[in-house]
Amino acid sequence: MRIGIPKGLLYYKFYPFIITFFKELGAEVIVSPDTNKEILDLGTKYSIDEACLPIKIFHGHVAYLKDKCDIILLPRIMQLRKNEYICPKFCGLPEMVINTIPNMPKIISKPIYAFSKRSLKPWIIEAGLLVTKNYFKIIKAYSQAILVQKNYHCGVNDLNYPLNIALAGHPYNIYDEFSNMNLINKLNKLGVGVITEEFVDNTLIDNEVSNLFKRPFWTFARNSYGFSTYLAKNNKIHGIIYLSSFACGTDSVTIELIKDKLKDFPILILKIDEHTGEAGFDTRIEAFVDMLQRRCDLNEANLSSSR
Ligand code: SF4
Repeated sequence: MRIGIPKGLLYYKFYPFIITFFKELGAEVIVSPDTNKEILDLGTKYSIDEACLPIKIFHGHVAYLKDKCDIILLPRIMQLRKNEYICPKFCGLPEMVINTIPNMPKIISKPIYAFSKRSLKPWIIEAGLLVTKNYFKIIKAYSQAILVQKNYHCGVNDLNYPLNIALAGHPYNIYDEFSNMNLINKLNKLGVGVITEEFVDNTLIDNEVSNLFKRPFWTFARNSYGFSTYLAKNNKIHGIIYLSSFACGTDSVTIELIKDKLKDFPILILKIDEHTGEAGFDTRIEAFVDMLQRRCDLNEANLSSSR
């Protein structure tokens, strides 16, 4: 049994769990390669025009895998935290894929509620039974996958640079180096350190979002808002870069919430889609870093003149 795992969307956060689970069941796991031009072109070809870049890229990974495996995982992720949701595009992901990509193999599309070990179990059983009828083997594979996932730490925390920024946005935009044109590397070369949401404690994020007039409905919004406003208010960063997908509904709300909270704190919004040109992208980053540097110099000059 060959299981195809598309290297898109939340693969970057949960691949240790997924790969371990299916390997422990005895399946052969085939992961698509890192996103590249061929995968992007396939995604653009098969996906609907209105979809955001990460969804198009996901379609590309599926199209790459479809003739190389017996089953493809199409993760219909509904919840990662209780009483919060992901994004409507995740809920309808399998339907989008099977109605646009022809000759698809069998798929795994059962909704995933991953806010507790218990809530995830129905998905585990259904996916596991496609590979083995041995219930105990499935439960053992589940326990092993949880263990491996717990020991995996996703995220970036490198604030040892003259300037430091919070890099906000969805994990698939931040960790897919092809779609973000290797943004973290570009920033490091300009002397800018980066921290991502995984390195701010959940309690601190919850404290931040508790000040909003309404609890965020979307987990992505909660994370991006909570971690970036916490770091800015506590003077741990010089600026925020929000890496956003063009046409993303949750981003449009989250960005306004952050701006409203932090007023004149430096924020750069980088919107990406399949047409984003690298030269323009670089110019905007360089201009932002210049501005941060001048702001720092000015603050230092003001401090020394007041001494
Ligand atoms: S949250 Fe935004 S970027 Fe992510 S899948 Fe939904 S619309 Fe696309």
